[in-house]
Amino acid sequence: MRIGYGWDSHEFKRGIPLKIGGVVLPHPKGLGGHSDGDVLLHALTDALLGAIAAGDIGGFFPPTDPKWKGADSALFVSEAMQRVTQAGYVIANVDSTLILAQPKIGPHAAEIQSTVARLLNIQPSAVGIKAKTPEGMGTDNAAIAHVTVLLLRKGQGEHDVALAEEAVPQPEVDEVVKQVLKDVPKPSRRKTVHKN
Ligand code: MG
Repeated sequence: MRIGYGWDSHEFKRGIPLKIGGVVLPHPKGLGGHSDGDVLLHALTDALLGAIAAGDIGGFFPPTDPKWKGADSALFVSEAMQRVTQAGYVIANVDSTLILAQPKIGPHAAEIQSTVARLLNIQPSAVGIKAKTPEGMGTDNAAIAHVTVLLLRKGQGEHDVALAEEAVPQPEVDEVVKQVLKDVPKPSRRKTVHKN
């Protein structure tokens, strides 16, 4: 198995659409950049490339190349995914944290989650989308994304992931566990000896 990590930041600019995780969000400012400025997909691309030690997004899609001007960042993810597949890996799961003052990501998290899952051809339950505001960081005019991915070698361990995804909640089992734990004696409190 392999782990990958990616990070990116983009500055907010007026008059351009805001795209995060392949979803256009209603907001008066968008993220500037040579491509569509999708900070989450850029960090995801780097995490995928990093997991197979294949370099970074700038090496594959140089911002100096006019070909990528205004490009849909889904293209970058798709290219990175192709490399991952060629290297013989599949994705176990992805986790991410967005850091931005505005807009609120919560109302759009499910749509971003399903869009990213579709791009990666994995279940939404394998994509974590979290968001925080940049308290005390002074980065209110930027959006930052951190992404980690876990890859499994194709044919090894995929079965376990599939089984975990198929797992359904079993309240009756939870109840048995609760009962058993209730009867477990609590550890006795040690007397704390103060030496001074
Ligand atoms: Mg970027």
